[in-house]
Amino acid sequence: MGNPIQRTPTVGKDMMEDVEQFDVMIIGAGVTGLYALYRLRALGLSVRAFEAGGGVGGTWYWNRYPGARFDSESYTYGYSFSEALLQEWDWQEHYAAQPETERYLNYVADKFDLRRDIRFHARVASAVFDEGEDRWQVHLEDGHRARARFLITAVGSLSAYYIPDFEGLDRFTGTWCHTGRWPAEGMDLAGKRVGVIGTGATGVQLITEIANDVGHLTVFQRTANYCAPLRNGPIDPATQRQIKASYPDIFQKCRETAGSFIHQVDPRSAMDVAPDERLEQYERLWAAPGFKKWLANFHDIMVPGKANEDYAAFVRQKIRERVKDPVVAEKLVPKDHLFGSKRLPCESGYYEVYNRDNVLLVDVREAPIERITPTGITTRDAEYALDVLIFATGYDAVTGSLTRIDIHGTGGQTLQEKFAEGPRTYMGIQSAGFPNLFTMPGAGAGNFTRGCEPLVEWVRDCIGSMRAKGLTRIEATPQAEEAWRAHVAEAGATLLRSKANSWFVGANIPGKARFLLGSPDSAPVMRAKRAEVAAQGYAGFRLQ
Ligand SMILES: Cc1cc2nc3c(=O)[nH]c(=O)nc-3n(C[C@H](O)[C@H](O)[C@H](O)COP(=O)(O)OP(=O)(O)OC[C@H]3O[C@@H](n4cnc5c(N)ncnc54)[C@H](O)[C@@H]3O)c2cc1C
Repeated sequence: MGNPIQRTPTVGKDMMEDVEQFDVMIIGAGVTGLYALYRLRALGLSVRAFEAGGGVGGTWYWNRYPGARFDSESYTYGYSFSEALLQEWDWQEHYAAQPETERYLNYVADKFDLRRDIRFHARVASAVFDEGEDRWQVHLEDGHRARARFLITAVGSLSAYYIPDFEGLDRFTGTWCHTGRWPAEGMDLAGKRVGVIGTGATGVQLITEIANDVGHLTVFQRTANYCAPLRNGPIDPATQRQIKASYPDIFQKCRETAGSFIHQVDPRSAMDVAPDERLEQYERLWAAPGFKKWLANFHDIMVPGKANEDYAAFVRQKIRERVKDPVVAEKLVPKDHLFGSKRLPCESGYYEVYNRDNVLLVDVREAPIERITPTGITTRDAEYALDVLIFATGYDAVTGSLTRIDIHGTGGQTLQEKFAEGPRTYMGIQSAGFPNLFTMPGAGAGNFTRGCEPLVEWVRDCIGSMRAKGLTRIEATPQAEEAWRAHVAEAGATLLRSKANSWFVGANIPGKARFLLGSPDSAPVMRAKRAEVAAQGYAGFRLQ
């Protein structure tokens, strides 16, 4: 793991003949990279995107594991920028599975002729800022080099996959993979003894999907999560017509909410309504699809306190009701973190999996994994024989895919060094000492595309206005960056998201500094802050 290429390239005039030149380079061809390419090309700029994978889609290209699907409503997640696209594309399911979303992003790439400016199988190993020329030069792992005034890292917040450093994996004689690198040809699980490590959102989806096919499934759980029924279904023709007729309304609703989801929070306090009315609402929302039961609920469920505890008790009871063996049920009931302090995994029959004879739940808090052996896994208490081992162990979130690139700013400083104590940015967009580099932070807890479109448009406007004024360099000031970091630390400390040991704060990666990854502000507040910064001539940035 980590950046495999550690060389520090130099930029010299004599090396530049075979270096491709562009106005803008983008790293990544997922939802963000594709949209950035589309928008910046429309300014008349020469743009090149570099994508490590063999196709477009990012998350939806790599995550081919069985069960991978949205928790966003499909039609709230798709791009909003093209009316033609909105009307042409028929989402098949309310919560599309990975193949459908990958098809969608391929359709977008073709419709807007984006592929001609994307280089695939092109992993960027390093990027160096040339202070004399105000240009970035990137080096690909295959030796290819390119230069541009601006560099946009659309490398994904859940893209740098993480496998814990278990002793013995290199000697395992079965097959293994990480869910984020599921082979395109699939994995043969039929009748096999399969082990899954991890029960976060991905593990929950995968385990449910494969339990029926495998011979035996051993699930290694460290943290029990609050999971809620997704209640997915196909979109019938009448609903399809209705969705297409109401896109402006759908996107307007998403614009108004904190996380850009369509669910509007109930402004009432859970504790202010009578217990039977409260329970009626809990049950009604529980029966509804998707995140409604989380994000459309009483507002104080979203903050630590009595209401949050009350709802957590309700969810725990829902889990207990579905698992026949009370000992297993208790293992599946979360007790060590607050409801909503992690992104809520949505499931379609997850808990019933543990009622099957061929499924075993191993609590690795009780008996930690000691090593991987040639034939399976040894915990403190037992040995488990396995033919296939699957790591649903998540990502080095938000900063991981950035710091795996050897990025050198002014004065030779690297982004890796700069982020050693957590991200140091101004609004997540730029880091002082790294001029003309736009990092594109994921919203983390939000409905991704709704947050990504306005951010890309802000960067497009910024680059457009610089070119119109003949400016060649934009850099966040250290003061603006420091003020932003202090704001994230202070405002972030009050959020539910900061309370659990989750990827939101880097706690899933050993040695990673604990710091809120992403903005503590709601999506509407972030849009307003960015608009204000732009209106003030890019306050907090130095332009020249
Ligand atoms: C399983 C899963 C389910 C999800 N479900 C939802 C959901 O329902 N709703 C939601 O809003 N969000 C969801 N997300 C979050 C999801 O990541 C975003 O919705 C979105 O796809 C991110 O797009 P992106 O373009 O920013 O990044 P990504 O899609 O991660 O794309 C980044 C791309 O950059 C490339 N890259 C990285 N480093 C390099 C390099 N050095 N050189 C070249 N290329 C590089 C990667 O190969 C990748 O293709 C989910 C994430 C996962 C993992």
